[in-house]
Amino acid sequence: MYPKLDIYIDKIIHNAQYLRQECQKVGVELTVVTKVIRAMPEIVIPLRDAGVTSFGDSRMINIKRLRQSGIENPLYLIRIPMLSEVPSILEYADFVFVSELETLKRIVHTSGKKNTAVLFMIDVGDIREGVWFEQADRDLEQALKIAGPRLIGLGTNLGCFGGVLPDENNMRMLCEFGARYGLPTLSGGNSAALLLIEEGTLPEQINHYRVGEAVFLGTDVTRNRAVPGTDLDTFLLRAEIVELQTKPSVPVGEIGQDAFGRKPEFEDKGLRQKAIIAVGEQDIIASGLRPLDPKIIVLHASSDHTILDVTDSDQAYRVGDFLSFRLSYGALLRAMTSEYIFKNIVV
Ligand SMILES: *Cc1c(COP(=O)(O)O)cnc(C)c1O
Repeated sequence: MYPKLDIYIDKIIHNAQYLRQECQKVGVELTVVTKVIRAMPEIVIPLRDAGVTSFGDSRMINIKRLRQSGIENPLYLIRIPMLSEVPSILEYADFVFVSELETLKRIVHTSGKKNTAVLFMIDVGDIREGVWFEQADRDLEQALKIAGPRLIGLGTNLGCFGGVLPDENNMRMLCEFGARYGLPTLSGGNSAALLLIEEGTLPEQINHYRVGEAVFLGTDVTRNRAVPGTDLDTFLLRAEIVELQTKPSVPVGEIGQDAFGRKPEFEDKGLRQKAIIAVGEQDIIASGLRPLDPKIIVLHASSDHTILDVTDSDQAYRVGDFLSFRLSYGALLRAMTSEYIFKNIVV
């Protein structure tokens, strides 16, 4: 069944165990963030069995699925909650990150099975979630009054929206707030913050990381690098060639917008050998496909077709051949979400 996503579970386990050890050495607990794999139990259960102690996800539906597949470990909801999901949080999640006092009140004043603990998010520069650091004192005083001992710590997120890189300075800011309000758990980082551990510049008060990308792909997209010690061949997409023809590199006719409202640009390289593979925007992000054959160029995709330039390849491809790709974080997210990609755990 194609397109197929081969999932190399042993390599994912290696990455999780390795990163867990590296974090442990500096007193940081690693929570594996499962959103990119949609908390697929066939991946999460082996990770638990291999020693991962806690998991985080952005979606309650994934957290619920983890519980229902027998995961009893601590679970973190890492996306700031919708008010409408508070009852579900109190049934399934052990920890939740919040940035709104209104949400905190709702959590504290709703009764549920669990006494879900709260971490308050502080925005130290990335302009995504969290109370902006210049206003944080006001909200933290209030938050402590509202939540009392259920407020156990602080979190921050970097490198996601603004692309701001975690560094010693923005991490110290989190530590200062933690010290001022006596909040012991400081959740400082994601994959982008692993570099601080490698370099030995992470302030020692930071004691929790939430890591997805480096576990599942071995990469850190914010610095465009492979994380040392991890394995990159964790997922490989296999797609089938359905057309292989020689065509011009520039279309003929007046050019409007493509199927997604984009205006494609073309470089005239004359006639080229083009392959169409049966996978498209519904399943992947074309710019996030990294062909294992380094001489293949990924050109563009529409909903169901991805166009490749295979002219320079040393292989004599034929219709019906399968091509393999590593995936970027965004492409993996979409591939895991696409119902049209067959997921194959390789053991
Ligand atoms: C996705 C996410 C993470 C994990 O980030 P990676 O870059 O995949 O390690 C951590 N924290 C929050 C709040 C997130 O949304």
